[in-house]
Amino acid sequence: MRIPLLCSFILLFISYSYSQQSQRRNQDLQHAIGDRMIQISDSQKIKVKAGITKIDESKSFETGNCGTRILSPSTLENFEVTGEFIVNYSGFSLEAQEAFDHAIKIWSRLITTSVPIKINASFSSLGPDILGSAGPTYILRDIENESFPNTYYPAALADQLNGLDNVGIDIEADFNINFNNWYFGLDGCPGPIEYDFVTVAMHEVAHGLGIFSSPEILNFGPFDGNLGCYGYDSGENDPLGFPIFIPIIFDHFVENGMGQKVTSFDPNFCWSTLTTMFTGDDLYYNGPNTRQCFGDRLKLYAPLNFLPESSYSHLDEDTYVKEDVNSLMTPFLMNGEAIHDPGCSIGMLQDFGYQAHNLKPIQLDIPTIGEWATLILIILLLTISVNILKINIVSA
Ligand SMILES: [Zn+2]
Repeated sequence: MRIPLLCSFILLFISYSYSQQSQRRNQDLQHAIGDRMIQISDSQKIKVKAGITKIDESKSFETGNCGTRILSPSTLENFEVTGEFIVNYSGFSLEAQEAFDHAIKIWSRLITTSVPIKINASFSSLGPDILGSAGPTYILRDIENESFPNTYYPAALADQLNGLDNVGIDIEADFNINFNNWYFGLDGCPGPIEYDFVTVAMHEVAHGLGIFSSPEILNFGPFDGNLGCYGYDSGENDPLGFPIFIPIIFDHFVENGMGQKVTSFDPNFCWSTLTTMFTGDDLYYNGPNTRQCFGDRLKLYAPLNFLPESSYSHLDEDTYVKEDVNSLMTPFLMNGEAIHDPGCSIGMLQDFGYQAHNLKPIQLDIPTIGEWATLILIILLLTISVNILKINIVSA
């Protein structure tokens, strides 16, 4: 009798665990609308925070130490515009709008769009030390031309993949109106205590484009801090009535130091190994295009203390420090730091399915030898005609 009793107890516990995990996660995601779309709430958006570095006395901010990979407005004009972005501004000052517009001008030369990407950009009250917060407005699944089946795609990418304007506004980006040390210049030269707005705008748009996920560590009852989960509630249930969870495109490229992929774990359950991965400082992004760009995997931010708004969806702060070419997508922006280029993070967008690329110089049409010869002949004929005309006039 003891064994069946024990079995019953274990079954009961497993059933309880399953139900608790599912219910808890279901409560966190009540934004499913329709069958294929989920609306992303403000609390799920990814934040970038103000970090503070000790001012390096050996470097003078006065003498052109102006950040990394900065593209001036005049330099940008030499590169082809390949993407269309439409921005609705709310609460922006003129200088803030010019700075955001500059970031968009850079992005519009890095992405080729078939459908315009629409952004709502606002200044609003965010938490202390939070510079900005952004994400896709919606994520969609079952997209025509998708690279991974059973996967959510950010709205902007879904538009590009199926050639439709699926949801209207694709990206929402908020910036902290209560922050006093913004630098709105376009030259990437913030003062020692200032924070470069163009950098933050570039960063937030990247989250909206899809450098974005929503991992979770359960923090209740017997599972407190022990089980990690990923994926979004699809709004559909399995035969037992429990919700089915589906990953987002970013999840497919995340793995631990041993190369074990997050997506090798069933997203319908929460796993202790995922907790270790999310908090072990040993998490990587491994995609073909980032690997080609960087020559290796990119290290993701996975500190011991799990920060749902920062962990997993950023590059590692300690690896890609201020002035590193890949520092745009780290979770903290330091005072005096500026970078106006996604570095190898552009490879993530390519992995997801965007037509993304390095800047393309504008090709000037240089006439061929035949065209030159025709041009010279025309000029010669015109000169002769004018001279004949002159002679005729004089003669008359
Ligand atoms: Zn961020």
